[in-house]
Amino acid sequence: MYKTVFEALKWASSFLKEHGRDENAGELLLRHYLKVSRASLLAGLRDELPRDIGEKFREAVLRHAEGVPVQHITGYEEFYGRVFFVDKNVLIPRPETEELIAGALERIAQIFGDADKTLALADIGTGSGAIAITMKLERPSLQVTGTDISGAALSVAKKNAGSLGADVEWIKGDLLQPFIGSGRKFDIILSNPPYIPEGDKEGMSIVVTGHEPHTALFAGEDGLHFYRRLAEELPAVVKEQALIGVEIGAGQGEAVAELFQAAFPGADVEVVFDINGKDRIVFVKLFKK
Ligand code: SAM
Ligand code: GLN
Repeated sequence: MYKTVFEALKWASSFLKEHGRDENAGELLLRHYLKVSRASLLAGLRDELPRDIGEKFREAVLRHAEGVPVQHITGYEEFYGRVFFVDKNVLIPRPETEELIAGALERIAQIFGDADKTLALADIGTGSGAIAITMKLERPSLQVTGTDISGAALSVAKKNAGSLGADVEWIKGDLLQPFIGSGRKFDIILSNPPYIPEGDKEGMSIVVTGHEPHTALFAGEDGLHFYRRLAEELPAVVKEQALIGVEIGAGQGEAVAELFQAAFPGADVEVVFDINGKDRIVFVKLFKK
């Protein structure tokens, strides 16, 4: 058995590599059990590792090697600098989605100006609540509604809203149907819908396909199912002046931009690329005529 922090990390990284997992997972797990920042972990590499922690760590590394996501072992993921509780009922929030938040905040300021203005925002398919809660906390004057078709996901979102102190309204329903029924309209609609083509399933890591809900991931043969439905349903639920922002999969930019441009002929439709140079977000800006 390893004696020091350094030896433990070295063992984990080669063990995880052998099993085709991310070698850096060991660092995240050990930080979790030692309750330290990355900086203090690295500053204490030569320290002796307490035996009980060493054992918990070893067990966690073995579980991750078998395919359990690190976030299901620790119980949380960080998103936009905050800690979100996650379990098997929700998608683990991804760093790419932080770019949807940053891009939306920037455009909201541009289009609507004044930070105190009351604007209604809906996050469709909220999962852990990552987008809805973050938007509320970053711009508290927003009136935020989060929706999901999964009641189990909404329970997780509510728990996160409680622990992070975000006042958000939660609605269970199929895409925009709850609002079409009630005639409610929004200034801002954001969504990270499922967008992976069904056919990609076989090639994906068991860490994802074996542990995250498939209703959060897959979207028909070409992955565009939800964008087609959104393009159809959105015109009924946005105000005359509005911002729409959706996350997309790499390579879907052109198709999604076309769908939205057809739904909103007069709008300004923009494809945004992420830090890795992949198309990642489509924004639609609607202006008063
Ligand atoms: N917004 C979260 C995030 O970015 O981390 C979760 C996104 S996950 C890719 C998609 C979410 O959409 C899942 O929580 C899933 O339950 C939900 N969903 C799937 N089909 C839906 C539908 N027809 N109506 C509403 N939500 C749906
Ligand atoms: N980015 C996620 C993945 O690659 C997919 C999320 C989604 O379909 N919206 O696993």
